[in-house]
Amino acid sequence: MKDCLFCKIAVKELPSKIQYEDADIIAFDDINPKAEIHILIVPKKHIESVMTLEKEDIQLIGKLIYTAKNIAAKKGLKGYKLLFNVGRSGGQLVDHLHLHLLGGQGLKGMI
Ligand code: 5GP
Ligand code: ZN
Repeated sequence: MKDCLFCKIAVKELPSKIQYEDADIIAFDDINPKAEIHILIVPKKHIESVMTLEKEDIQLIGKLIYTAKNIAAKKGLKGYKLLFNVGRSGGQLVDHLHLHLLGGQGLKGMI
């Protein structure tokens, strides 16, 4: 989608520190990390938010969580947080659905 930050990152129009990529998903470091490890797991398909999810996206969303688990295992994380911010009042600033993977130092008291 034109003028979408994460679509541009997905097609490498904008740079990012990529942690994982396949045909459906790209995962990269958050530019402003809220914990020692903060990775955004993003479907390449432009979906605005959890609020606009369609039934056809169910498998893709499952794959996002599965990818988060694999990245966390690769990083050796024994515990972590997975978070979707949904809508402005839910803290969502980028209108392209993404799953936050937060791990390492800095998790305590977060939520
Ligand atoms: P949200 O608040 O929408 O759930 O999360 C958006 C996240 O994207 C924030 O944690 C923010 O730091 C991150 N972010 C914003 N712009 C960029 C960018 O240009 N590159 C990367 N890697 N992360 C970004
Ligand atoms: Zn997008």
